This record gives sequence, C-alpha cells and structure tokens, in this order.
Amino acid sequence: MKPIFFVLVSVWMGTLLWILPVTHAQQAPRNTRVQIGMSGQGLPIEAFRFGTGLRKFVIVGETHGAPERNTGVLSRQLIDWFGNHPEAVPADVRLYIIPVLNPDGDKLESRQNANGVDLNRNMNTNLDKCSENDWAQRVYGASAVISDTGGPYADSEPESRVIRAFLLDASAVVFLHSAAGLVFPAFCEDPIAIALAQTYAKAGNYQYARYWDKYPITGGMHDWARGIDLPAIIPELESGDDPEFDRNLAGVKAVLANAPALLPALADRQVNGVTMPFPIWRFWQAYGAEIIGPPLADAQLRDGKYVQAFTTITLAYDPHDDVQPVRALPIDVAPVVGDVAPTSDDTTVLTFTKTTAVVHDAFARYYERIDGQQLLGVPQDNERMMAVPVGTQQSQQQFAFGVIRYDEVNNRIIRLPVVWQAVVTTNVLAPTQPFQIR
Ligand SMILES: [Zn+2]
Repeated sequence: MKPIFFVLVSVWMGTLLWILPVTHAQQAPRNTRVQIGMSGQGLPIEAFRFGTGLRKFVIVGETHGAPERNTGVLSRQLIDWFGNHPEAVPADVRLYIIPVLNPDGDKLESRQNANGVDLNRNMNTNLDKCSENDWAQRVYGASAVISDTGGPYADSEPESRVIRAFLLDASAVVFLHSAAGLVFPAFCEDPIAIALAQTYAKAGNYQYARYWDKYPITGGMHDWARGIDLPAIIPELESGDDPEFDRNLAGVKAVLANAPALLPALADRQVNGVTMPFPIWRFWQAYGAEIIGPPLADAQLRDGKYVQAFTTITLAYDPHDDVQPVRALPIDVAPVVGDVAPTSDDTTVLTFTKTTAVVHDAFARYYERIDGQQLLGVPQDNERMMAVPVGTQQSQQQFAFGVIRYDEVNNRIIRLPVVWQAVVTTNVLAPTQPFQIR
C-alpha cells in the first residue's frame, strides 16, 4: 500500500513539475520592453508595451526624479498589473508605460536631470496658441520657487528629446506627478485633453482642475504636447510617497474604456494642399518647420513606411518603429572624401564614432541646438569652403541627412535645399581652415 501510494504521488508530482515549466514557456510574453533612449549620464530610459492596437496611449512616470518617486513606483505597479491582466487593454490600443523618464534625477536625489534642468520646464511650448506658457530659462519650480532651471534653450536636454521623439505617433499621454492631488489638462484649450482629465479625475476620485493656478508653468510637457495636437494631462498624486495605485488604475481603466473618444486615431494633415501623415506633421512642427522647409509632395508608402520629401530633408514614418516612429532618411549625395580637420584649440568639437569627420564651433553649436542627431545624422566630411553660389565662398558641411552652410551675409547657419545638395560635392574649393570664420 505504502510503496504504491509513494509511486503514485511521485508520478503525480513528476507530472506536475513537468507540466508547470512547459505551461509557463507557452505563455505569450506579458509585455514588450524597449529602451527608448538614454539619460544624460547614460542610464537607459525604458518603455513597457501592452497590446498592439493602433491607438498608442502613453503613461510617463518620474519626470521630476527623486522627490516624485511615488510616480515611478505607481508606474511599476501598473506594469505588473497589466502584465497579469493583458485583456484589460482593448484590441485597438497599445499601452506604453515609461516608469522613469528622469533616471539621473532619481539617482542623484534631484528633481532636475544631471544638468540641473527641470525637464517639465524645458520643452518647446511656443508651438501652442497660448503665449503665457512659452518656454523660458527662468521658471517657477516646486512651491513656486524661481530658478534658472528651464535649460539653456527649449528641448535642450537628452531626456526631453527622447520623449519628444517617442510621442510623435501617440494618441494621448499622461504625465504622472505628485503631490497636489488634482488632474489638469494642457493649458491651451483642447477638448479631448479636458475630457481625458475629467474622466481620469472622476474615476480616480481626484479633483479636476482646468488650470494649474498656483503659478505659471512654462516649458511643460503637457503644453508642448498641445502644440503638436497631442492630448495630454497631468495627474498630480495627493501624497508625496503613496503611489495611490487603486485610484490611478481606475483612472487608466476609465480612459481605456473610452478609447475611441479619448485616444483619437491619427488622421492625415493637409498643408498647402499636401497630405502629411500625422506623425510626420508632428515631427515637422516639433523639430522646426522653418528649419526643415515645406513638404514637396504627398507622402508615399514604401516598404511599409510613409516617406515624404521636404525642401531640406526626407522623413519616414514607420508605424512599427517602437522607439522613434519618424526618422530622417540619408540624402542621395555621395560623401565628400576630405582631410580630417585639426581638433586642437577649438571651443566646441563634436566627434563621432562612425566617421573620422568632426563638427566644429558654430556648426557644432547649431548641431546640438537643432538635435542634429535626428535632423542631420553623422557628418560625411569636414567643414569646407564651397563656391556656391558662384562667385562666393561659403563654409559648408555635409551630413547623412542634409547639408548646412554658414550664411555670411546674415551671419547665420542655414540648411541647404535638396536642389543645392547635389551641387555641393562638385564645387569643392579646398578644405577649410575650420577656425577662420566666426
Ligand atoms: Zn512634478
């Protein structure tokens, strides 16, 4: 009796042990984890995706680092919960949760990033129709303390650029903060953001506020989003340490339950009779319509990507790109093979791992300012003097995605139109002395 029982139990246990790992291995992945960029100090910024629908809904935690760490805790709890309840994300939605946008602030016990910049005061908020919230270096921070933490210019920070690139194809975004205990939408009138804030507040039992009325917020992420027609809200948790999980889960669920109304599908935009996919239109706005120039023709579908040419650049929108849905494409001009410019006694020099070419001085400052990584790519040669237009000599440099020139008459740097880019390589005079101008 006893041996048989023992054998039966052993068989039963063995079967159980054999079944468990297999069952586990056959489960679909609970989420997709992607690194969407890096902080200034090289820490990863991650997003966790649930679902594969067209409406991209993004929740962002811990923009304000250590003092608002409970928003990071809340985000991780939401990640766990949606991992265990994938059916809670409707079929037409894909939910992304970024637990910590400011990992350096978390590490350094700071509200700001490693450069001492308040990321929720650094965005280009000059694109919406309200001037009261335009970007400024001098800002109101927590408890209305005034400081110069808006950054040297709008969108200057690596973390600001990561979120700017990531949200271009989003349907709506929630930026979690603490601890004022209310939910408010973008400052400039946006019916969808208002409905989003009201829905979230009601479900989470938070107070809804049309405005943050304690002091002006300049350069805020929600107001940047308004400028590219991206519905955005800020839930402020009530406590500075409690993640208030149940209330916020209720808020998120209420938004998901109203996805068709609160997470609008992306519709094409018309500009001067040209059709632009919404994410490309947003890129064009966010990175500077003046720098990029007008679109030349409707976007074309090519290998699953929407490709559109502008006067100075070609952009591609890839609906399956989890990290940067819109990117620049290389220009169709052969690289100029030139000498490596000297790198001593410069004020600013940018070096790149994949090319021996460098970017100097004013070109380097321009490159950093416009987010050259996105708009220009790596340099294809060093700065050179060119005989274009004929009879003049101007300093130019060729990059993967475009060509820039120092316009001596107006003392500014401009991007060359595509029609000029092809001419550039045939008009090389001589390698420039990189320090002779400006
Ligand atoms: Zn905050």
